[in-house]
Formats: sequence, C-alpha cells, structure tokens
Amino acid sequence: MVRNEGFNEKDSVEILCIGSELLLGNTLNTNSRWIAEELASIGLPHYRQTVVGDNSKRLEKVLIEATTRSHILITTGGLGPTPDDLTTQTLAKTFNIELEEREEILTDIKNKLQNSNDGSFSLNRKQALLPKGSEIIPNPSGTAPGIIWQPIPEFTILTFPGVPSELKIMWKDTAVPWLKSHINFNTVLTSRTLQFAGISESLLAEKVSDLLQKTNPTVAPYASLGEVKLRITAKGDSFSETRNLLTPCEEEIRQRLGLYCYGSDEDSLASVIIDLLRKRKETLSIAESCTGGQLSAALTKIPGASDVFLGGVVAYCNNLKKNLLNVSTKTLEQHGAVSSEVVLEMANGAKKNLESDWAISISGLAGPSGRTQTKPIGTVHIGIVGPEKIEADYQNLFGKHLGREGIQKMSVIRSLDNLRILLLSRS
Ligand code: AMP
Ligand code: MG
Repeated sequence: MVRNEGFNEKDSVEILCIGSELLLGNTLNTNSRWIAEELASIGLPHYRQTVVGDNSKRLEKVLIEATTRSHILITTGGLGPTPDDLTTQTLAKTFNIELEEREEILTDIKNKLQNSNDGSFSLNRKQALLPKGSEIIPNPSGTAPGIIWQPIPEFTILTFPGVPSELKIMWKDTAVPWLKSHINFNTVLTSRTLQFAGISESLLAEKVSDLLQKTNPTVAPYASLGEVKLRITAKGDSFSETRNLLTPCEEEIRQRLGLYCYGSDEDSLASVIIDLLRKRKETLSIAESCTGGQLSAALTKIPGASDVFLGGVVAYCNNLKKNLLNVSTKTLEQHGAVSSEVVLEMANGAKKNLESDWAISISGLAGPSGRTQTKPIGTVHIGIVGPEKIEADYQNLFGKHLGREGIQKMSVIRSLDNLRILLLSRS
C-alpha cells in the first residue's frame, strides 16, 4: 500500500519515456501527455517527466534518481523484441534481480506469432523474460507484456510498451484498477474544461480575471488557433466536495461568457452543430472553395454525423462553382469569386442541389499568392443559408501571418461558429 497522507513530492508518481526516437524528435512523446492526463483524471499528482534514449547506462541512472523522489514510476518504451529495447533487462540489472522466463508469456507470444512466418520468434523470446517477483500487465494486442514490480520498499515500477494503442488498453485494463486499489486517495481532483469560440484569449481572461486568481477551484486558460479553453480544477476529500466547488464556478463563467461558450470537455464545434441540427431534425450540406473539404472533414469526424450532414462539394474553380452550385457568370464577373454575393449563391446552390435544410459555403484567399487589388490574403467570405429564407454572409480578414493552413483552419472554425450562433438565435 502506497502511503498518502496528503501527497507530498515523495508520494508522487513520475513518468519516464524510453526511446532514442523521442530524443531525436522523430516521434512525438504523446505517451507522456496521455498518461499525465490519465493521472490527473484519477487525482494522482505527478511532478516529473523524463525522456531517456535506448541506452542502458543512462536509463540505470534515471531509475536510481527516481527511487529518491517518487513512489511510483511509470515507464513506456523499450519492451520490444529488438536489441535496442532494453528496459526490462536494465531494470533487473539496476536492482540486481534475476530475470526468469514466464511460460504463460512464451505461450501467448507463440500464439500471437503463429501466423507470421518471418521467423522472428527467436527475437521475441526475450519479451517473456521478466524480473523475479514481478506481476504481469497483459498486452492483449501485442507481444510485449508490461510489469508491475516493487524492486525495493516503497518504490513500484509499472512498465508499458511504447506503442500508444497498446499502452492505452493495458493502462485501462490493469494499471488503473491496480493504482486505485493500492493507493489511499485522500485527495480527489475533478476537472471540467469549458470551450469558447469567437473570443480572444485576452478578452476571455479579462472577463474572468478574478476567477483566475482562485486557488480552489483553479481556473486556467489554454488557447489554440481560433479557440480558447478554460480548465476548472477542484481539489477536495470527496467527489461531492469537488463537485460542489466546481459547479458554481462553472455556472459563473457560463453566465459571464454567454454564447461564447460553446461546450465542455470532449465537445467540438462540429459535434455541437451536429447535436443542434439533430435536435431540430434538419440537415446540412457544404460548398467549399479555399478550404478544399476541410469543413466537410471536420463534420465527418463526428460519429453519427450522417444523421444530419448530407455531404459537400469542393468547387475550387469557377466552372465548378457555376456547374455544380448554380453560381452565375455575371455574379462571378461583377464581384469576383471571393465575395458575399458568390458565397450566398454557392450556399443556395448547395442547399438546392444537395437538398438540405442548411448550407454553408466558404470562398477565400488562403495565400500565399493570389491577392487582388482590393482583397488581401486572408480575406474569406462565408455564406450560410437555412430554412425560411435565412441568408447570412460573413466577411473575415484573417491575418496573413497565419499562413495558408492557419487561414483554412480559421475559416472552418468561423463557419461552424457562425452556424452555431444562427441556430441558437432561432431556437
Ligand atoms: P518500443 O516499445 O520502444 O519498441 O516503441 C514502439 C513504438 O512506439 C516506437 O517505434 C514509437 O513509434 C512508439 N513510441 C515509443 N515511445 C513513444 C512515446 N513516448 N510517445 C508516442 N509514441 C511512442
Ligand atoms: Mg524503442
């Protein structure tokens, strides 16, 4: 049982990711991020993350250091069959414990490899060698099992393979139940993330500046292109206590920010739109030019989108705008393809030809070349048409510094957010 009389640093967990590809920058260390979020979600504090290459000496040094400051060490990587994977053998060497071949692992590996005829079993054999006294963390989808092992008093190591999908299953199936039954959780942490669009991080921070000073719950802003989040985290002795701290703070923020807040936790603008349309039993189609299908892709990412999203047309050249979306030659000549008039014709064409209740259209200059006398790079027009002759158009001027990808991303975010506001204003 791990001691936890109110966590102090020695009571905490640390994460160690092993792999030279992480140091070289070839592989992004997503495992650290994922485990960190998981630890926070079960209320286990961690104060240290380390990356070390596939080097036994340096790994040994980090292991010794970890014993001086943490109770639990979680490692990922280095459990593969190749000679560069040396986590388990280095663990055994560091703590001077013998490795033993585990029959059940050997059988499991043989079963998993029986269909592959590449003769790789001799290499995989080493994955069945585990330190004496260690428990197995089964790997349902790969050949590398992890271990839970206490080599010295008050220090437990949990090892996982580097492959993120394998780590995630093993974590949920085995590590979480183990952590929950072996640690006295005196502290419960509960978090809620609120999502905002249409407001800058600085304006949002200004509106909640007093709340950002709070210590329990804490409120922290995070910004990414076109969207801002506020993470509220409450600490307490029980879930009901943290919930009682969190709820009034969330309500206060929602009240101050109104429609800028589009959702919480796993919501995205696209998922919120799909939900709103589903409730109204209305459908949506898309006509895109400069975003080349990215708006349609954002919608199709949402499971169940087909209930409301019928499809889209990528009409990049003027001919397709005319032939597929009924945009008139005259409008194109008079106003240019990037104009309110053209996006409204595109949206009306999509709505009619794709037989939807709503349609969004986008036409803009994503750059870097292609600016005109009157329209700078970053000019993006968005059109939205809906039932009962609803028609709206929005002219945006996104900063050129965002680059082509940034302008495209902003166009997708703004068009979804514009539709969200229209739908909410009509409900
Ligand atoms: P390993 O268990 O060391 O053989 O790692 C197998 C694969 O998992 C590597 O080739 C990487 O593609 C991936 N991987 C390893 N460590 C990480 C990490 N920290 N984050 C994301 N992917 C990783
Ligand atoms: Mg590796």
